[in-house]
Amino acid sequence: MEQNRSIQLMDTTLRDGEQTQGVSYFPQEKVSVGKALLQSLKVDRIEVASARVSDGEKSAVQQLTDWARNAGHLHQIEILGFVDHTKSVDWIVESGARIINLLTKGSLNHCTNQLGKTIEQHIADIKQTVSYAQAQGLSVNVYLEDWSNGYADSPDYVYQLVDALKDLGIEHFMLPDTLGVMAPKEVFDSLTDMIERFPSIKFNFHPHNDYGLATANSMAAAEAGVAALHCTMNCLGERAGNASLAEVSVVLKDKLGLQLNIDEKEIHNIAKLVESFSGKRLAANTPIVGADVFTQTAGIHADGDHKGGLYITELSPERFGRERSYALGKMAGKASIIKNLEAMEIEISPENQKKLLDKIVKLGDQKATITPNDLPFIIADIMESNDFAHIELLNCSITSGLDLESSANIRLRIGDKVYKSSGHGNGGFDAFMKALDHPLSDSKLTMPELIDYEVRIPPGGQANALTECVIQWADDAKQFHTRGVNSNQVFAGIQATLRMLNVRLHQRQ
Ligand SMILES: [Zn+2]
Repeated sequence: MEQNRSIQLMDTTLRDGEQTQGVSYFPQEKVSVGKALLQSLKVDRIEVASARVSDGEKSAVQQLTDWARNAGHLHQIEILGFVDHTKSVDWIVESGARIINLLTKGSLNHCTNQLGKTIEQHIADIKQTVSYAQAQGLSVNVYLEDWSNGYADSPDYVYQLVDALKDLGIEHFMLPDTLGVMAPKEVFDSLTDMIERFPSIKFNFHPHNDYGLATANSMAAAEAGVAALHCTMNCLGERAGNASLAEVSVVLKDKLGLQLNIDEKEIHNIAKLVESFSGKRLAANTPIVGADVFTQTAGIHADGDHKGGLYITELSPERFGRERSYALGKMAGKASIIKNLEAMEIEISPENQKKLLDKIVKLGDQKATITPNDLPFIIADIMESNDFAHIELLNCSITSGLDLESSANIRLRIGDKVYKSSGHGNGGFDAFMKALDHPLSDSKLTMPELIDYEVRIPPGGQANALTECVIQWADDAKQFHTRGVNSNQVFAGIQATLRMLNVRLHQRQ
């Protein structure tokens, strides 16, 4: 295949991605994601809504198109529309968008049994909507819904439909594997056939991930020579989702040598943005964007990195604006410890390193989750010194009641100064945070922004189980998290907060 061929990505996080169970964006969220996709990630095209959904949807699209017109991105915004003569087209014109992605039927089965029409009737209806859209100044793309089944079961229907539409000035013919039933070889063979039959048409492939093959199918479609691939951030979409933009873009570049406009350094940021707006958590082991994919767990890998990159692949964290980290646990080796100590600028003697490793392996055996931010506490523990425990909660009582404001009374050591303080708030954790105000300002310590607070109990846990609290903090451009574990969930949050403050105090020294 030719080198340096370029291929377009069309992102449909805001349209097909919104068909994920339980996902619905606020208009402002839609606008933020749309801007980020075009401006930061530099996606070629985005599909942002279905026509005629609601007035709220229309106003979200209007906000986005207002911005895009001034920023020079209007030609990249597309809206799904229906074969309904004037209705979808009018809605799209009012929304300020300029491109309709017209949903036509790509299988005889859908045409006959869903529309109750012959192919001739359907083609006449499509032509009527296309010519109205073009008369209103819209550019037209068509989807052939259920194309994968249509091609398998009624190929003559597919050829006849494309043949009837090919000279209407339609920009892209978009072929969906609507139910995600294809395998890579079928994708390659069928698209090769379509491209050979209709060489002047720009075909797009629109995969779904029901067999977990969406990325592999996208690669096969690119090899067959399609002009564009459709994908979503975080694999959002109905059922098993669409194809993941992160995976597809990296595979096309690394495995096929294709040129893409994507700015890879932004993929992780935008994945996090979409994660928070959609409420759909990324699994920690999601390729490219998951929390754990650049964490080395086994000591031998950290040892390889320590000795000069023996386990390097093209998927480096720096490429995606991320950092490599070294997990601590029972698989940790001395090299993991050294890497973490280096990162935190902590120096300890070789004997203490050995003690530290033993302690970490022991904690790992007890299934405790250990993060680098726990290191200073563990060091303080094994060396029985206060050198690394800069902050200590000596006493804390919290009272809460139904319809009552919570209050917290604390005794706290920061460095060698002991504070007594109290606070009131909306819940026990908030009261504790208020009680910290005075000791922190007296110690000239600022609180980073709290951006996420997650409490969980182990799967299958009982009401008396330990709870784990993970808090995500943001400080300047950097994000980090700390954990706390306690049988009381408020104290788990307090512990996570104290760990964060300890790290900051240590960095200050
Ligand atoms: Zn779809």
